[in-house]
This record gives sequence, C-alpha cells and structure tokens, in this order.
Amino acid sequence: MRMSQMFAPTLREVPSEADIPSHQLMLRAGMVRKTVSGVYSYLHLGCRVVRKVEKIVREEMDRQGAQEVLMPAIQSADIWRETGRWDDYGSEMFRLKDRNGREMCLGPTHEEIITVTVRDEIRSYRQLPKILYQIQTKYRDEIRPRFGVMRSREFIMKDAYSFDRDNEGLDRSYEKMYEAYCRVFSRCGVDYRVVEADAGAIGGSQNHEFMVVSEVGEDALVFCDACGYAANVERAESAKPAERVADTEKVRTGIRKISTPGMRTIEEVTGYLKVEPRVLLKTLVYVADGTPVAAIVRGDRDLNEAKLKRVLGCRELELATPEVIERVSGAPVGFTGPVGLRERIKIVADWEATVVEDAVVGANAVDAHLVGAEYGVDYTADIVADIRNVVAGDACPRCGAELCGARGVEVGHLFKLGTKYSSALGAKYLDEGGVEHPIIMGCYGIGITRTVASVIEEHHDDDGIIWPMSVAPYQAVVMPLNTSESAQVEAAERIYSELCKHGVEAVMDDRDERPGVKFKDADLIGFPIRVIVGPKHLGDGEVEVSMRRDGTVELVKIENVAVRVKEIVDRELAALMPE
Ligand SMILES: [Zn+2]
Repeated sequence: MRMSQMFAPTLREVPSEADIPSHQLMLRAGMVRKTVSGVYSYLHLGCRVVRKVEKIVREEMDRQGAQEVLMPAIQSADIWRETGRWDDYGSEMFRLKDRNGREMCLGPTHEEIITVTVRDEIRSYRQLPKILYQIQTKYRDEIRPRFGVMRSREFIMKDAYSFDRDNEGLDRSYEKMYEAYCRVFSRCGVDYRVVEADAGAIGGSQNHEFMVVSEVGEDALVFCDACGYAANVERAESAKPAERVADTEKVRTGIRKISTPGMRTIEEVTGYLKVEPRVLLKTLVYVADGTPVAAIVRGDRDLNEAKLKRVLGCRELELATPEVIERVSGAPVGFTGPVGLRERIKIVADWEATVVEDAVVGANAVDAHLVGAEYGVDYTADIVADIRNVVAGDACPRCGAELCGARGVEVGHLFKLGTKYSSALGAKYLDEGGVEHPIIMGCYGIGITRTVASVIEEHHDDDGIIWPMSVAPYQAVVMPLNTSESAQVEAAERIYSELCKHGVEAVMDDRDERPGVKFKDADLIGFPIRVIVGPKHLGDGEVEVSMRRDGTVELVKIENVAVRVKEIVDRELAALMPE
C-alpha cells in the first residue's frame, strides 16, 4: 500500500467530541468517522485492525472445534415474544416494521434465533454437542453512546452458542470457550482479567467476564495478585472478619444517649463526636417485597443491594421512603439505629458491623445518637451476612492477601444458560432410550470493535498508537525522507518491494511531504516497525530500522532489510502466541 493513495485522513488536532484516548486516536489516525451518535464508519486502517482481531478470534474458535455460521441482523418479533424478551429488552432494542406491518428488530443478540435454528434441525443425542459462532453486527440503542466504538449503538461482535445433552457436556464446551478467550486476548496483546460477574439480562447460572484493565473502564474490579481471585466489585465477596474476642479486662463505658441536633450525615456525626466513620454504624431501611427491613453496615462502607437482595431472597428491593422510615423507627431520616428496632422489623447486619466496639448508632429519636453500643449486648440481628461492597485494600476472600483495585472494560463474556432458551423455544433432543430432554446451552461473546479500542487504550503514548504486531493495520512503513532524491526513492522502492515479497504487510510513504509530517503520521498510526531511508547512512548502503514501541534503532544493509524486518515481525508474533 502506498501512503499517497491510502484513505487514511489523519488529524493533527484532538477532536473535541472525544474524551478518551482510544476514541481520540481512532479519529486522529483516520481509522473511523462518526456518522450519527454511536454509529461509526471504519476507514481503511480501522477496517484492517477489525479484520485482524476477527481473524484471531476465528482461528481460536475453529481450534476448539466451533463452527462458523452467519445469522441475519433482522429478526422477527415472534421468537422474541416466545422467550418474553420482546418486552424485557425495552428501549435498547431497535424495533421496526416491514411493509406488511410485521414487527421486527435489529438483533441486539442472537440466543432466540440460534435456538430456533437448532431446534428445527437437531433431533438426536447423536447430533450433539455443537458449538456454533458468528461474527456479526449487533444493534443496541444505548441511552448514552459514548467513548467512540467502546460503547456504540452498532458494533461487531463474535457470539458463540454451545448445545450439549447434559451439564458435563456444557462444562466441557464452557472450558473450550474459556481457553479460546484466554488465547484470543493474549494474542491481541491486552492485559486481561477473568472475573466472576452478574448475569444481567441474559440470565443463566455461572458466568465469567473477560476484562481489559483500563482507567477508562466502566466496571470497578478487585483482584488478588497472590491467588488470582478477581471479581467485579458488585459481585466480589468480602472476607469474613475474625470473631471479636471479648476483652474481660476492659471496663465497659456502657451505652448512652447523646444529643446530636440536626446531624444526619456520617460526616456531621463523626465530626462532632471526633470518631472515625468506621465506628459509626449506618442503619438503612429498605422495603423488600413490601416489607420494611433494616440493613446495617459500617459508616465507611457501602451497602451492596444485590447482596442484600440475595440474602433476603426477595424479588423487589428499594430504599424506604422517609414516611416509612419514620413509621418504623419513630424518628426522622438520619437517626435510625438498631437498638430496639428488631422488635419492629427484621435486621440484616453486615458481619463486619457486628465486630465494631463502642459503636455509634442512631437513637431512633429525633436529634439523638447512642454511643458505646455493642452487638450482642445492646442489639442483635436476624441475619449476619456479607452485604457490603468490597474495596481495594480489603482482605482477599480466598487467601487473605490484600486486594488491589482496578477499572476494566468488558471485552468478553461467558454464560452457562442451561435450558433457559431451549425450554422456552422447545429445543429438545432424544436420548438413547428415546426420551426427550431440553438441550443444555451456553453463550459466549467477544466485542470485536470494543477489543480494538481496548488495545489502543493500553498501547499508546502522547504521539499516537503503539500497535502490538498481531493487530497492527500494517506491520512496517518505509519512509524515504526526501522523495526528490532519486537514490532515496530507489532504495526505498527496492526495500518496499522486497518486504512485500517476504510477506511483510508494508506501507510505502511515497508522499512528497516533509520528514516531520511523515514521522508524525507514522507515530500516530503506530506502524510497529519503520524503515527510514535518509541521506545519513545511504552512502554506506544502510538504512535505519526502528521500533515504534521504544524507539530503538538499528542500522541494516539495504539488501538485508526484508529478512531482518520479517525476523522482527515473526519474533513479535511468536511472543504473543500462547503455548
Ligand atoms: Zn487471594
């Protein structure tokens, strides 16, 4: 490819619409252009990177025996009604009608259609297992599309679906996809973590998220370097605190009521009493399936509603209104406490809250708190459980080492669906004895375009993108510094043609531009290797081969350049390849 002909309109200025590095750089390097909010065109360089990620994904899926298919983007509403998701999906689904008024949608995902396809063709256990996948455009009408292709309304995804006769088969399929995903993200050169996650709208029992560690990530993660435990903060378990050993020597000051006029917040109360927020216990009143309950966490902690919901086993959970709080506690918002409250409503205490000594709690009376409250003496709870958010610095629930915090971008997801879709849509098989069973399913997604953005988030500097060799749009650029010098042009042309012959994906920067412009574009686009043909070394028959990543330069004889560059390309690709 010749730079003079390439459709890669680079920008010097940082576009004001873009606020994260990958979005800025994809626009500046001429990879993408926005058409409408959350919808992008991929220009030549962007398209090449997308195709490279897709190629890696295909190779790894095929390696596990998965078979590629291609399903339509347009789907009938009927099959979505059968699983109840036509209504559940809400306004995130792009809906349309055909000329006969028949309702359709642009597929946000493909569980329904693949299940129906398999249902119509598979009859016997002999036809199982199967793993089918596609690489296709998905549509989700995000409320707030942002971060460029990171959260867009039209995006490319690889989605795979496994079909097995039993749970052991599902475990094997899941393992295969898990391994494929590890290999895909290693090969793309990203630092990823596998975390346990909530199932969300898709449902199912077990699931994992593949997260790329990134400051711009929308998910908060904790992970343990000692044992490898990693989880989404919403899902992470807190380590059980050691039992409190009663200090028999200590003389208890005892519980007493103090006046805290108008002090409702933790800051106000702890500031006034000159105590740490951890000594104050927050008592939050919720309504669980219509019944008020109290939840207690330390003042420096955040309650995790998903955990509280699981502990209570309720369907609906919401914070109580001020009226309800006043009715159950006898005091306005801000003065609720656990002492005496259990006679009126159920109390759930975070297990950490039960080991706080001389706690400060609301007095269930206006403008008053209690100090010196002890669990087991002054108050108790119906349930003691893990109901708080885990934070960095907490002990690892598996090994006790300190947890680290990070933000992550979700690039892949594995779900064990079980029979959720096969039961709803009647996808069954007959076993050896002729008995009918629902097919056991799993589903597995990779955000292709989001992976491209994540690679850039991890691999860039102030000047531009630093592509890992595996996903670079081109592997090398040949730069004659002055195109009016025939010796430079001749040497560059020879090198370019030899690189192509050696199978190196090369670009010839044949533009009549100043060297500064060529260097800036090469930095911005991020070709991993550049071959600089300049006056300094040409007299000795040599050119500079330099690396975008660290700027290292070596002088190479013109006749050896192609072999040397090919060596570097192969070495770098091999380094990214898992064993
Ligand atoms: Zn650990």
